Order: sequence, then structure tokens, then C-alpha cells
Amino acid sequence: MIRSCSPTVCAALLSIVTPAAAAEAPADLILSGGRVWTAKSEAPWAEAVAVRGDHIVYVGTDASAASLRGPKTEVVDLHGGLVLPGFNDAHIHLMEGALSLERVDLIEDDSLAAVQARIRGFAAANATRPWVLGRGWLYGSFPEGLPTKEQLDAVVADRPAYMDCYDGHTGWANSKALALAGITRETKDPEDGIIVRDPKTGEPTGALKEGAKSLVEARIPVPEGEARYALLLRALALLNSQGITSVQDAGFGPVDLSTDVPLLERARAEGRLTVRVRASVRMSQGDVEDPIAAAVRLRASHDDAWLRFDAIKGFVDGVVEAKTAAMLEPYPDGGTGLPNWTPATLNAAVTAADKAGLQVWLHAIGDRGVRMALDAHEAALRANGRADGRGRIEHIETISSADYPRFKALGVIASMQPLHANPDQNNMMVWVRNAGPDRAGRGFSWGNLERAGARLVYGSDWPVVTSDVRRGLYCAVARKTREGKPPGGWLSDQAVTLDSALRHYTIDAAYASFEENAKGSLTAGALADLVVLSEDLFKEPPEAILRSKVVLTVVGGRVVYRDRP
Ligand SMILES: [Zn+2]
Repeated sequence: MIRSCSPTVCAALLSIVTPAAAAEAPADLILSGGRVWTAKSEAPWAEAVAVRGDHIVYVGTDASAASLRGPKTEVVDLHGGLVLPGFNDAHIHLMEGALSLERVDLIEDDSLAAVQARIRGFAAANATRPWVLGRGWLYGSFPEGLPTKEQLDAVVADRPAYMDCYDGHTGWANSKALALAGITRETKDPEDGIIVRDPKTGEPTGALKEGAKSLVEARIPVPEGEARYALLLRALALLNSQGITSVQDAGFGPVDLSTDVPLLERARAEGRLTVRVRASVRMSQGDVEDPIAAAVRLRASHDDAWLRFDAIKGFVDGVVEAKTAAMLEPYPDGGTGLPNWTPATLNAAVTAADKAGLQVWLHAIGDRGVRMALDAHEAALRANGRADGRGRIEHIETISSADYPRFKALGVIASMQPLHANPDQNNMMVWVRNAGPDRAGRGFSWGNLERAGARLVYGSDWPVVTSDVRRGLYCAVARKTREGKPPGGWLSDQAVTLDSALRHYTIDAAYASFEENAKGSLTAGALADLVVLSEDLFKEPPEAILRSKVVLTVVGGRVVYRDRP
């Protein structure tokens, strides 16, 4: 199914097809004097872009673009910089990212001492906050692979403190937070999670896996009203500063729908929604019908280029780090991880959502989880015959060799996050060890998927890792940390070309939301969403990606970020 374009897009496509027609009215904005990468295979390069209103009216030579200049046209000299279609982050958690802006970020700390020092400093700087909150800690920072309440008590003893793991699957509470949540030796594990306990005493250690996290999280005061709205606006500004013009949200829950959809609507009404938002609604085993109904209802009122709800998301399994990802063969020290669904319930849920015309996203990280997700998309295809449902699988950190060709055969999109494969200490120690040698050899295998004809789309999973697209791009092409480790790149045959990585962040990401005709490439008639980088990445070694700067970001013809004031 290809969505028909909006009346404005169609009008633009019909009326502006030749430079002569375009010349009838001057452009509002002309970018020239650099290189333009269009994401169009048939004409990948140009010199200049001209914009009128919220659409691109011309892509071509500097000379022809100059003929569209009028007295009020803003002309931007690119100084040899690179123009790209605006980045589309195909997997993000927008509001969680927004809320993370007022929490301490631990993602760059790779030792217990560094983690504790940062939390101590943050707590001191925010002495009046009732809770000390943070996120982003790495399993590899802790000697045992999991943190303890004593380690957090050592730096925050006066207030409850709670830190979410970078992957969002494990929480870390201090003694005050555990007490506030009423978690004791007697507390039973919830059905969908584990209160980690000392094997000798049975005392909760402070680590909470999966559903057990919510025992503490439910007690944390969340910003509401104006404070929450202000954080959303900060998040949008941050994304614009990174060249991001579209995001696809990986799952609103029922609470998010009631609190955050109105905030997005308000931002839009006030002209402050400077990132296009496309979102999915979360479902889980036993809670399928309501989310589908919610997504269908929201689709009826939110289905345009700025705000759209037309997808449903389910978690097939957990993560490798916590050994909750569902594997075909056991983890090196036993256990295979349990899927969150039975195959039958998953197939039925995906089929029902697909039948309702929704796109289905399935989080699947273990090779068994990925296979179950492929099976479920296949079941939906067989049952409904909707050939262009564009089902998605999120993450695909491990995969059986036998399953590569199924992505192309079923038309399933591989939605992956390059920075999750960052070969830092955490990944190299915890992830590789847990995956075991055979599975780790196919870790985050973008190259194999591309060679098998799969369509990849890239995102960040922010706030799991930074939303900075340059970091993701560098990891995608180099498979190295930003310090350049390991020298040859980790599983370097899984790296992709720069051209390919950029496509996954632009035109392919637009395809993943059925919008490839409206955005994702620079062409006359497309929405004027673009980013200007300071360096021509195609002429420089990959390290130039990291030192490049976002110079200008334009969304719908409007400049929403400028490097210089
Ligand atoms: Zn996610």
C-alpha cells in the first residue's frame, strides 16, 4: 500500500515539473556552492537546491537555481558543505528521550568509579530534587555485570535514587527507593520480571529486571503539564541540531497516549513541532485488542506529514545483556531466554493488527525471537494477503543464517541501530560473551542482511544511546568506537558503505513509514526537509563524519537550526 500524497504535495508535483514552471515565482530559500546528495539512485548528485513554501522546487545546477532568486530569497552559501535529505530516525523513544534530558546520563562511563563519581556530582548539583534519577549505565561497568544497592547508597544515601540501564531492561535502585516501593525479601517476582536477589540471604540486591522495574518506576514523580511540554520542546530542538527532521516512535503506551499526544498536538498547533513524528502504539501478550483499537482511532485523526499514528509495536523478547533475548541455542552458561509471547498468540496478534491496516513492529533480538517475528509476519501475509504491509523487525542483534533471505522474501523491513553495535568495552565484554562465539559472529549483521536483499532502516533508539546521527553513521561505516577501536573494525564485513548508511537514515526510513514519495530524497516536489553538514563526507575518510558539524537544518522549508546565531 502506498499512501496517496497530501493535496499540497500533489499540487506541487503537478505544477512544478520544469525549471520554466519553477521560474514563475522566486524561491524562498536557495542553497548553493556545495554538493547535494539527493538519495535518488538515478541522479545522486547536484549543486543546488531551491525551496518555496514547504516544498523543494528545484534540484540541479547553481546557475539554474540562481535564476529562481528574487528580492526576498534567502541564499545560503554552502562553502563546500554537503546537503543531505533531513535525517529520519526510524526508531526513537521521543518522550523518554525528552524526560532523559533532566536525568544524569551514564552512557559514557565505563567503570564503577566513573559511574559513582558522576552520580555524586549530579546529586550535589540537584540537591533539592526529591529523587536522584539517571540512565544509561552499562553492564560492563560493574564487576558482577549487575549493579547493587550498596554501590548506589554509597553516593546517594539521603534520597531515593534510581538509574535505568542503557538498554531499558534493567533498573538499579538504592535502599531508599527499594523501601519506598516496598520491595523486601518477601516480595514476589512479578510475572514479567525478576527482583534480583542475593543467593545466600534472599535480600533484593537493587537490580530489577524487566517488569520488576515498574515496582520502583511507578513511584517516581514524572514531569507533568508545562514542565513536560518544555522538555518535549528541548528534545525537538536537540534533534534539529543533529540534522533530524523526522522520527518514528517505537511505542506509546496507554499512559503516554493520554499525556503525550496532547503535547504533540499542542506543539503542532503552536508551530513548534519542528520534527515530523510518526508513532506506534505498544501491545503485549494479553493486551492486543485495545492497542489496535487505539492505533486505529488515532490514525483517523493523525495521518498527515507532521503527526501520524499508524503502527503497532510488540516485544517478542528481551536483550542479550540480560540474557532475556530468546535464543535457539542456550546461552554459554545455560538458559535460552524466554519469548514474551507464544508463537500462536504472536501470530494472531500480528495478523489482527495487519488486518486493521496497521504496520507491525516487532522487537526481536535473540535469533529465536527474530525467527518468531518473521513467522508472525509470514502468518499475517498468508492470512490477509496484504503484500505491502511493510512489517518491521526491530534490532535483530542476532540471527540464524537460515533467516537472512526471509526478509526479502516476506518484504519485512530490518530496523537497526548502528550505535548498538558500538564495539566499546560493554559490547565486547558482556554482549559478545553472552551471545557466544557462533552468534556473536553474526552480531548486528547489516552487511549480511543487505547482501540477502533485505531493506534496512537506521535509527538510534534514543535515549538508549545518543540520537546523534553522526555517531551512528560512523559506526555503520567503520564498526569502530569513536576512539578508532578495534583498528580494523569489529566484524568489518558487516559494515556498510556511506551511501548505503545515508539511504537507511533517509529514503529507506521514509519507505518504512510509507512516505518515500513525499520525503527522504531531495527532488522537486518533495517536502523541503534537509540538513547541511560542514564537510563533504564522500571526499573524506570516515573519521570526518565525527568532526563534521550540522550547519543548517530545514523542516518544511523552515530553518529550524543554524550553527551560527
Ligand atoms: Zn527501542
